[in-house]
Amino acid sequence: MHLQAVADLPEIRPGDDLAALIADRTTVEDGDVVTIASTVVSKAEGRQADLTDFPAGPRAREIAGRLEDLSGEEKDPRFAQAVLEESTELVTDAPFLLTETRFGHVCVNAGIDRSNVPDHDLLLLPKRPTESAERIRTGLLEASNLDPDDGENVAVIVTDTCGRPFRFGQRGVALGWAGMPASRDWRGETDRDGREMGVTVQSVVDELSSAANLVTGEGDDGTPAVVVRDWAFGDHEGSDNLFRDLDGDFVRHALRDWRYD
Ligand code: GDP
Ligand code: MN
Ligand code: MN
Ligand code: MN
Repeated sequence: MHLQAVADLPEIRPGDDLAALIADRTTVEDGDVVTIASTVVSKAEGRQADLTDFPAGPRAREIAGRLEDLSGEEKDPRFAQAVLEESTELVTDAPFLLTETRFGHVCVNAGIDRSNVPDHDLLLLPKRPTESAERIRTGLLEASNLDPDDGENVAVIVTDTCGRPFRFGQRGVALGWAGMPASRDWRGETDRDGREMGVTVQSVVDELSSAANLVTGEGDDGTPAVVVRDWAFGDHEGSDNLFRDLDGDFVRHALRDWRYD
């Protein structure tokens, strides 16, 4: 398995065609997985925003005030307003805003970024990252003369850097993907002792995102797109279930019943 950053991508602007920009700079081959940082997908989709776009309502002011009291740091209620507008549920409102975004991903501050955003205060996550991945995949297939009807394939994963519970440190996760399943089901396969596995479902899109994020970097590297070569999903059972249903999500229920004072 090889991971290679796409070199020399420019600063991405609204309306840019990411597939064309990538295909102009590298050869995408049958079987490749291309990961793209959501930051540049958002920039291409015009998701830049400013705090003045989000006049704070009473709820945002209350949330920001409480966060300010807890942290002793100034919190802009307009930022809280932006987080609320990008979310369908506030999972925790203290000591930080953990929310479910409109496309089902749970993360801090609805994934709104304040780094790598020239000329604007905020960068919102792509509205529908799966559709973004599908569109970029279609563009890459066309630009590379690859035809799924001939059994040729390219997968695209839109990633973000995200924190996690229980452990320090952030890593790359998948927000949307196209051209491959999200996870590989190992249940029913056997271990080295011939014992049948009953539980393991491997989130391959997250694992690819984390690996790619090592190449992408987090700062001024300028390498938002990575080509993953010589890795194959293979002939396995898979599924697209990455976000848990609320019903079966024990941690989510525990958080709902718990209040931070
Ligand atoms: P996120 O993980 O999606 O939030 O994105 P990051 O802010 O961590 O940036 C990921 C990578 O993309 C880093 O290497 C950045 O330097 C790079 N990057 C961000 N914006 C641009 C851009 O407009 N053009 C280029 N070429 N690189 C960018
Ligand atoms: Mn981000
Ligand atoms: Mn990142
Ligand atoms: Mn193990």
